[in-house]
Amino acid sequence: MNLRKKTLIIANWKMHLNTHQASLLVHRLDERIQVHRDIEVVLAPSMLSLQPLSQQINHRKFKLAAQNGYATDEGAYTGEVSFAMLSGLVTYAIVGHSARRIYFNETLEVVRDKVQAAVRNDIMPVICIGETKQERDAGEGRQVLHDQLTTALMNITSRELERVVLAYEPVWAISTFDGIIAKPDDIEKSIAYIRMQLRELYGEKAAENMYILYGGSVNDHDVRSYLEVPGVDGALVGAASLNYHQFSAMIDAAYRMRTEA
Ligand code: PEP
Repeated sequence: MNLRKKTLIIANWKMHLNTHQASLLVHRLDERIQVHRDIEVVLAPSMLSLQPLSQQINHRKFKLAAQNGYATDEGAYTGEVSFAMLSGLVTYAIVGHSARRIYFNETLEVVRDKVQAAVRNDIMPVICIGETKQERDAGEGRQVLHDQLTTALMNITSRELERVVLAYEPVWAISTFDGIIAKPDDIEKSIAYIRMQLRELYGEKAAENMYILYGGSVNDHDVRSYLEVPGVDGALVGAASLNYHQFSAMIDAAYRMRTEA
């Protein structure tokens, strides 16, 4: 945990909770979570809940993220919501999540264009990168990270990089894929590799300042062990973020870690 940076914890609710249920969950979280200056708590509900939740939340306590967006600002793209439309409503947008790469065939180039569109519309992309189990077993993990990272950042300047977040999410560790519990050591090595790539692209300082989150079956019992991994600046949480006891316990754990440090 780098005390010079905030701890960033993002709840990815995926395709769960209707607007009523989402509102109820925010109400429960609001009762349990305090405003902490050094902890940024971000909620990523479905597209449908963003507008009502933006009216409900205490914006000092919670920020909003979209789970997706369309790269073109406007046009005849039936069913899509652009980053331009999300601008002003959300602070962050998850881009390149493995569910989108795998189920919706998002290519490296699609992710690259979404990253650029998010930045253009003043939304911070949270770019998810990570290898599948098959790629890991074939010894292709590093190559996958390299390709996903360099393509996603292809059109991003050093200045814009300050408004970009990365999430290392090995697909094999995500609860709804293989759900294998990642060892802190594995995560540390991958994140060190990602920072090395960033250093080559943007230099030492930019690489150091970059927020890199870990995601993959994080829960309230093990969040601490992940936040302790050198180079990890926060967590992207899926399944466990739907449970208000677990999610608020994670924020508490992060807060305790910071106060003890
Ligand atoms: C995710 O899908 O981004 C994720 C990290 O999910 P989970 O925590 O459920 O593994």
